[in-house]
Amino acid sequence: MEKILFLSHTEENGHLSPHALETLTAASRIAAGLGGELLVGLYGGSTGDAVQQVSGKTYTIEEKIFAVSRYATDAAAAEAICRAAGATIVVAPGTSRTMRYLSGVAARLDGKVDTHITGLSTEGGLMLHRWYYRQRMRAEIRRSDRPWFIAVESGIFEKFVGTGGTVESVSVVIDDKLLRTSVQGFKSPVTGEQTIRPDADTLFVAGAGWTKKQADGQTHTDNAADLILDFLKKSGASLGSSKSLVDLKGEGQSVLPFMTHLNQVGQTGSTPRHPKGLATCCHGEEPHVVGWRFITERRAINLDPNCGWAQGKADVLYVADAFAVIEEINKLLG
Ligand SMILES: Cc1cc2nc3c(=O)[nH]c(=O)nc-3n(C[C@H](O)[C@H](O)[C@H](O)COP(=O)(O)OP(=O)(O)OC[C@H]3O[C@@H](n4cnc5c(N)ncnc54)[C@H](O)[C@@H]3O)c2cc1C
Repeated sequence: MEKILFLSHTEENGHLSPHALETLTAASRIAAGLGGELLVGLYGGSTGDAVQQVSGKTYTIEEKIFAVSRYATDAAAAEAICRAAGATIVVAPGTSRTMRYLSGVAARLDGKVDTHITGLSTEGGLMLHRWYYRQRMRAEIRRSDRPWFIAVESGIFEKFVGTGGTVESVSVVIDDKLLRTSVQGFKSPVTGEQTIRPDADTLFVAGAGWTKKQADGQTHTDNAADLILDFLKKSGASLGSSKSLVDLKGEGQSVLPFMTHLNQVGQTGSTPRHPKGLATCCHGEEPHVVGWRFITERRAINLDPNCGWAQGKADVLYVADAFAVIEEINKLLG
C-alpha cells in the first residue's frame, strides 16, 4: 500500500499557509484515489496550531532552529520525517523554501522528484500534470520509482479543512554542520510596498497607458500611482504589469515607483493564478495575455474599443477612462 506523506514547514505564526493547505488536499486526493494511507509531516519553530489544521497521523519536528528557511536544517527535518513515515509518495507545497531542498532530500532517499505540478489524476495509477515552455506544452508524468517527491503549485486545489492530527514527534540530531549558515532576515526586492500577493482573489494589471498623455495633453503619473496603491490597499488585489510599463523605468521615463520587473505578467513575465483579473490601461497584446492563462474571469478597462481585450481576450471590456473608473471604485470601496 502506498504511504502518501504531506510534508510542509509551518509559517512564522505557526500555521500552515493557504498553499500548504491546498497541497494537503492534493495529497488526500492521491491517498483516496490510490487507496493509500495519508500521513502528515510538519516542521518549524512551532507546529501546535498547524496540527489543528490537518487530520490523521502527524509527524512533527518543533524546534527554534527549524523556524527559518535554511537548506541544512530544512533538509534534515524533511529527511527525518520521510524516513519515520516510510513514505512512498511525498507531496509538498512548491514554496521557494521547499523547492530549495526537496530534490536534495529525494537524492538522499534515492527517490525521484517532480516539481511545478498543476494537476493530477489517480485512474490507473498516479499521473501528474505540469506545463513546460511557458505553458505551451502540458506533460503527463507517471513513475514507478519510489519514494516519489512532488512539489505542487498554488491556486489549484481548494484548502483542506482538518479535524486535528494525532502527533508523533520525530527527533533530529542537531550538530554544528546544520548551523553553519546563519539566517539574518529578509530583504524585499520591492521598494516600500509589497504588491505581489499570490493568494489574492484578484489580479490588478496596470499597463503603460497610466503613464501616457491623457485627454488634457498631460501625463498624470503621480495621480496614477496614488489611485493604484489606494485600490490595492482597499481591495487586497495583487499587482501585475505589462512589459511596456516596467520597461519604461529603464528608458528613464516617468514611472510608477513601486513597479518592478517582478510584477510583469506575460510571455517573458509570470503566469499568476487568481480567480479574477482586471487589466487597466493595458492593450491586451498576445505576449501579455498569454500570462493570463490561469486567470478565470477577465475584465479590462481601456479607452480603445478595438484593443486586444475586445478581440475575445476578456469576458468584459469597459470602454472607459481607467483614471475615472478606479477613482470611483476607490470611493465605493471606502
Ligand atoms: C518576445 C516578446 C515578449 C514579450 N513579453 C511580454 C510580456 O511578458 N508581458 C507583456 O506585458 N508584454 C510583453 N511583450 C510586449 C507586448 O507585445 C506589448 O508591447 C505590451 O504588452 C504592451 O504594453 P501595454 O499594453 O501596457 O502598452 P500599450 O500598448 O502602450 O497600451 C497602452 C494602452 O493604454 C490605453 N489607455 C491609455 N490611457 C488610458 C486611460 N486613461 N484609460 C484606459 N485605457 C487607457 C491605450 O488605449 C492603450 O491600449 C513582449 C513582446 C515580445 C516581442
